[in-house]
Amino acid sequence: MRKLTAFISLLLLSSSSLWAQLNVYYLNVGQGDATYIELPNGHNVLIDGGPSGEAVGKFLKDKGITTIDHVVLTHPHSDHYRGLKKVFAMVDVKNFYDSRAENVEAKGDNNLRELADAEPNCKTHYPEAGSNLNWDSRVTVKILNTCSEPVQLKYNDDVNNCSVVLRFFYNGTGLLFTGDAEASIENAMMRIFKSGLESYALKVGHHGSRYSSTNGFLARVKPKMAIISVGVDNVYGHPHKEALDRIRAAGAKIFFTTGGTQTLTIPAPRKGVEPVIGGLVPYDPAAPVLPQVEAVIYRPEVEAPRNVNGPALEQLEEQAAE
Ligand SMILES: [Zn+2]
Repeated sequence: MRKLTAFISLLLLSSSSLWAQLNVYYLNVGQGDATYIELPNGHNVLIDGGPSGEAVGKFLKDKGITTIDHVVLTHPHSDHYRGLKKVFAMVDVKNFYDSRAENVEAKGDNNLRELADAEPNCKTHYPEAGSNLNWDSRVTVKILNTCSEPVQLKYNDDVNNCSVVLRFFYNGTGLLFTGDAEASIENAMMRIFKSGLESYALKVGHHGSRYSSTNGFLARVKPKMAIISVGVDNVYGHPHKEALDRIRAAGAKIFFTTGGTQTLTIPAPRKGVEPVIGGLVPYDPAAPVLPQVEAVIYRPEVEAPRNVNGPALEQLEEQAAE
C-alpha cells in the first residue's frame, strides 16, 4: 500500500510539474501565422491557423491533440484563418475568440465563423481591449487590441489593425502576440499600456513588415527574442530589412519559422526563471540568406499599405478614454 501511495504521489508530482511550465510552439506554416500554446494548467490555445490546414493539421495529429480549449482568430485574413477550418474539422474546439471585423473582400472568414457556430459546445467570444481572459489562474492573459464593435472592412491595413493582440505573463516572463497590427496600433498600445507591453518574446507583427515593429514600440516591449512567422520567397518581401535592423538594434535575437517550428518553454516558478528556446539558430545578418526550407507559400493579391486611422484605433482610443 505504501508503495502504491508513493507511486501515485510520484505520478501526481510529475504530471503537475510537467503541466506547470508554459510551452509555446511557433509553427512553420509558410507565409502566415499559427502559434500553439500549452498552459501550465494543461489547457491549450491556438492563435491562428496559417494559410492552409496542412501544417497545423500535421502538427495537431503528430501531437495527438483532439481538443483545443481556446482558438483565437487574430483577424480575418486567409493566411491566418484558412488553416483554422481544418482545425474545426479535426478537433473539438471549446472556445473561439474573434474580432468583430468582417473582411468584405473575403468569404472564407464568414465560412470559418459558421464552422465555429456549428461546432458543438463551442462558444464564440469577442474580447475587448484591456480585458483579461481567465484561461489559467497562474497566467495573466490580456487583450491589448481588437475591433470589438462590428466593422466592415475592405482595406488590408484596416483588417490588420483589428488584430486581436494578446500578452501572456507567467513566472515573470511576458509573451506578446501582435497578429498583423501595424505602426498606428503599436503607437496606440504604447500610449495606453506603457510598460505593460514589456515581453521576453515578441511574435513580430505582420511577418516582419517594415510597417510594424517601430523603434518606439520595440523600446517599450524590450524583447529578448523575436519570432518572425514568414514563408520563403513570399510576394511581400517579408521580412523587410528595416524591420530586422530595428529589432536587432533593440537587442532581440531573431528567429524565423522558415527553418522549422520554433519552441519556447517558460519554466514553472522555482524551477528557474530563464526561458528555454528550442528549434534553430537565431538569424545572423552575416549569413547569406534566410534558411531555405520550402513551405506552404501563400500568394494573395498585393496591396500597397497606406496610412490609416481606422476603426481599430478609434475603438482602442475610446476604450482608453473610458
Ligand atoms: Zn498575415
